Amino acid sequence: MSQQYKGYVPLTLAEFNQLTEQLSVLLATEHPAVIIPGEAILGIEAVAAGIAAPGRTILNVVTGPYGSLFGQWLERGGAAVAEVKVSFDEVVTIEKVAAAIEQFQPVAISFVQAEVVTGGSNPAEAIFRLARQHNLITVTDSVSAVGGEALLVDEWAVDFAVIGAQKALAGPNGISAVSISPRGWQFLASNERAPRNSILSLLDLQPAPDGAPPLRVPPNIPVLEARALIQALAQVEDEGLPQVITRHERAASAAVAGIRALGLEPWQKNSSHYSTLTTTVRIQGADKLLIKQPIGIVAPGDGELYGQLLRINHFGQNASRESVETAVQTLAGLLAQDAGPAVLAVRTAWGE
Ligand SMILES: *Cc1c(COP(=O)(O)O)cnc(C)c1O
Repeated sequence: MSQQYKGYVPLTLAEFNQLTEQLSVLLATEHPAVIIPGEAILGIEAVAAGIAAPGRTILNVVTGPYGSLFGQWLERGGAAVAEVKVSFDEVVTIEKVAAAIEQFQPVAISFVQAEVVTGGSNPAEAIFRLARQHNLITVTDSVSAVGGEALLVDEWAVDFAVIGAQKALAGPNGISAVSISPRGWQFLASNERAPRNSILSLLDLQPAPDGAPPLRVPPNIPVLEARALIQALAQVEDEGLPQVITRHERAASAAVAGIRALGLEPWQKNSSHYSTLTTTVRIQGADKLLIKQPIGIVAPGDGELYGQLLRINHFGQNASRESVETAVQTLAGLLAQDAGPAVLAVRTAWGE
């Protein structure tokens, strides 16, 4: 070893407080989020385990594979799961959610805010408004929404919002966060089945309920990932969250314009509900698009969506005109078409 290993420097309380504050700013909430020592899927499973209980009916909206998984975890916890499932080339409508609330009378509702796998974005604000009218506990998987669209936790009365940094925020994937409202904490604490002394326990990680500042850094926080997340969120603050969101919107518009110029269509049906992080491309008959491995940010469909769509993953640092242009050139190459007009369409839609 040419360099001497200087050892591991624990996270300071100042760093921990900084991260907590950065997350509150990001999520527009005055409540400290729980920092999850792992990839976002751990936070999602922890929420399901914490809220599920026999006697609780939970309305789970399924618009992609993560929603199905969440429903399975709710069932494992003994909850009665009422499901609203739509075809994965659509998002849910507020009418469908309203009808299911009337039919099942749930105590809580869960959904994925935006789906990178399907390229759809659900009408989140309207769902939260409806949920509030029915006094439901609200749960959102916003891993693929945060940084790509608005997420106003306090204003929208979101009780549980799970986020990760590895998508739009261009941050590390080894740490994530769950924002929990005071009502959300009560919903956990009143559940006998909520895990304790477990990696799935949110209650074990609860900040002081009276809002007292933490006296020490929770020992479970991965230090290197925490520092990387602090840097990623500082970069988001430097650019400005609204600008980060706008950059993702532009990437999505540019990608859609580019694929249309190639004679392709988005896989999602409703043009006002496209994800800003990925554009999914309908394959339908275009056998030349059947790739097995990702080519740059162009990737085959996941799981059951393989062969139905291609994904253009224009998020994080790839929410850029250059990345979208390269992706469109890749598609043109697969189709053996001249990329020129599509690249021009990308530039025009990007609007610089
Ligand atoms: C990416 C993502 C996650 C996190 O899981 P990965 O292991 O990164 O795939 C969770 N939920 C949604 C909706 C996501 O898009």
